[in-house]
Amino acid sequence: MKKTIYAALVISAIFLSFACVPKHEHDFSQTECGQVLTCSICGQTKDEIKEHTWIEATCTTPKICAECGQIGGDPLGHTTNFGVCERCGAKVGKELLEQFDDEAFAINTITMTVSNTILDYSDREGVPTYSMLITASDSLEDTIEHYNKVIDLCGDNEKLSKVKEAALEARNSIPSRPYEDSSICKKAWLEDMVDYTTDCAMFYLEIAEIAGEQ
Ligand SMILES: [Zn+2]
Ligand SMILES: [Zn+2]
Ligand SMILES: [Zn+2]
Repeated sequence: MKKTIYAALVISAIFLSFACVPKHEHDFSQTECGQVLTCSICGQTKDEIKEHTWIEATCTTPKICAECGQIGGDPLGHTTNFGVCERCGAKVGKELLEQFDDEAFAINTITMTVSNTILDYSDREGVPTYSMLITASDSLEDTIEHYNKVIDLCGDNEKLSKVKEAALEARNSIPSRPYEDSSICKKAWLEDMVDYTTDCAMFYLEIAEIAGEQ
């Protein structure tokens, strides 16, 4: 009798030990990224680290893990800064136009201040003084960085070649300081200034043109 009870206990103990952890397919899906794969049912581990489940980056979103949300790097960015993106087909250019506007505004502010000062003086007193033209030239030099920014932004983009050309032309026609205090030099400077304001206006026109296309 004792033997029978003992046997029954052993059998039930064995049965119970199986019953505690029912036969199952290991489930490693709950393991967190970077941790050793561990079955969420029985705790058994596998000699393997759970890798991130990367969703590839797009033009506007970075590579991201679908499991833990970790971000790996930056968005790819569109293939162009103006025109249609070859990767995602988006029409791109609004940001660039805003940047152009900022630069054009800065150029316009400087150019208008200089030319109004010269014109006002000419109306009242006649030919501007040598020192006025020196100051004017130096002020106009401050527009160079803004033209350069535009030229840089245009890069090799075919669609922006006219803007780039116009910016180059305007930048290169900024009147430099008159080299001496003579009426010939001052007159030459004033003519250069007229040429420059024309080139400057052409530059604005080109920006308006592409803004219209967008
Ligand atoms: Zn398991
Ligand atoms: Zn992850
Ligand atoms: Zn894109």
